[in-house]
Order: sequence, then C-alpha cells, then structure tokens
Amino acid sequence: MGTPAIDLHTHSSASDGADTPGVLLMKAAQAGLSVIALCDHDTFAGLREAGSTATAIGLEVLPGVEISTRRRGVSVHLLGYGCRRDDLALNAGLAKVRSGRQDRVETMRTRLAELGMPIPADVLAAHVKDSPSVGRPHFADAMVELGYVSDRSEAFDRWLSDEGPAFVDRYCLPFEEALQLVHGAGGVAVVAHPWGRTSVSVLDADYLTSLVSDGLLDGIEVNHDDHDLATRKALASVAGRCGALVTGGSDYHGTGKKRGYELGCNTTSAEVLTEIQHRVTDAGGQLGV
Ligand code: AMP
Ligand code: FE
Ligand code: FE
Ligand code: ZN
Repeated sequence: MGTPAIDLHTHSSASDGADTPGVLLMKAAQAGLSVIALCDHDTFAGLREAGSTATAIGLEVLPGVEISTRRRGVSVHLLGYGCRRDDLALNAGLAKVRSGRQDRVETMRTRLAELGMPIPADVLAAHVKDSPSVGRPHFADAMVELGYVSDRSEAFDRWLSDEGPAFVDRYCLPFEEALQLVHGAGGVAVVAHPWGRTSVSVLDADYLTSLVSDGLLDGIEVNHDDHDLATRKALASVAGRCGALVTGGSDYHGTGKKRGYELGCNTTSAEVLTEIQHRVTDAGGQLGV
C-alpha cells in the first residue's frame, strides 16, 4: 500500500458544489483518494449522505464545515473539523450566516436584472436544489444556463467577485467568534486559503502566529490552489515557527466548476490527519459521519 491520499477540503451540492455527497465520494475514490473532508459552506447538511456512501465504498470521511467569517471587514474562510453537529452555539452561528445568504437573494436578483441579466426565480431554484446554503455559484450556474456567461469563472470575473458590479454583501460571523464556536463544539480550527484572494490583507504572519500560540487556531491551509509556490513556502515557514498544523486540500466544487481545484490536487499528510483526529477526540468532538 502506498501513502494514503488525503484531501481535507471538498464541497458538495449541500452548498455550492456540483456533485451530491454520494457522487463526490465515488469520484474521490476513483481519483485514488483514501480520505476526504467534506467542508460545505456554513452547513453540515451533506454529512449524513456522505456517511452512508463512505461505509458502502470504504472511503474515510472527516466531517468538516467551511464557515464564512469576517475580520476587519474582509472575508476569511474558516475550516472546522470534527465539530459536534448538535452544538447549539455553533448551529445558531451557522444558521445566522445561512439566513444572511437567503436575505441576499432578492437583492442580487434585482441587481442582476438592472445589469440586464434577469434571473427567473425558478431557474435559480433549479440550481440551488435542496441546498440550505445558497451562494453566488448558484447564481453563476443560472447565468450560464441563461447564456449570459460561459462558465462560473466568467460569471465571477465579470460580475460576481467581491469587486464586481453584481456583488452584494451578506452577514458573516466575526472571525474570532467563529474560532471559539469551532473549539466550543470540540472541533479543530484551520484557516482556509489565508493568503489567497483577499484575506491576506487581514491575516499577517504575526496575527496568525499569535492565534496559534494562544491556542485559538490549530492549523493553516498552506497547500491550496489560491497559493502559488512562493506563498506556500512563506506560509509553511510561518506554520513551522508557531507550530501550526499544515493542511492541504483541493477545494473541489465539481468538475469544471472552478479552473484547477480538481480532487486530490492538494493533500494533507497522514501525520497531520492523525493529530487532527487526536485533538478532536481530546476535545470531545465528533469524528463519525
Ligand atoms: P458566496 O458563498 O456566495 O460568498 O460565494 C463565494 C463562493 O464562490 C466561494 O466559496 C467559491 O466556491 C466560489 N467562487 C469564488 N470565486 C470563484 C471563481 N472565480 N470561480 C468559481 N467559483 C468561485
Ligand atoms: Fe464555494
Ligand atoms: Fe473558501
Ligand atoms: Zn472551500
């Protein structure tokens, strides 16, 4: 047996991924992965289905969530692994974020209509399906269907990105509150793609170091396609200095949904996975799916 391939960042149709949790797990097994973490945005909704498929096909699933947070007005994504999914405070926080997502829908539809791209409610609904966590990628898929853009990337590049003309803000949890919620639920907290996109401006090396030293943050997602090689080296050295766990994941959202970001394109070592599992067990978290 070779080294296990471990991808600790994937999404399903429970949030803005294209594959159902079951299909995602089958694709992961076909891609040669032995462990994946399902980290849907602001919801645990995909984990039940993932659990039944995992047992059926013999793939290991680490339960996760990717929480929409904000620090100093800038979006920061936080991965929580092994959280107790019945934790009241964490669920209340996630519910607040999801309701902010829902509240944004009509404003986005109005904005897009003003920009000449009306999105009929039923077209959007067909892409959201039963996801409780509606997001910009669902709008992007509707825009593709309506012929306004050719793929999700073009939808973001021209219209939906944080700087784009169709961007509408929504509620996100304060970053440090989200760290506490993850630990309060027995989970392990890893900051997602910290030096990619925008969050680099509010997550400097000193701040990350202090969070890890104070026990507020467990790990840093170093290996992610938002980080080029130089960024990965710099972040790995920050992690090495403060003792942060170094993780990696694909941030897969479905084939062709984001250029790159294919299953298993970034991975996490078996030693780090074991340490995550130990910390979850010690903190009374939940490793089962
Ligand atoms: P939202 O959750 O509504 O704030 O939308 C953010 C999500 O959009 C991210 O989690 C990504 O899944 C997705 N996203 C961001 N940028 C892009 C892009 N350039 N191409 C495809 N998807 C993207
Ligand atoms: Fe996403
Ligand atoms: Fe993210
Ligand atoms: Zn993600």
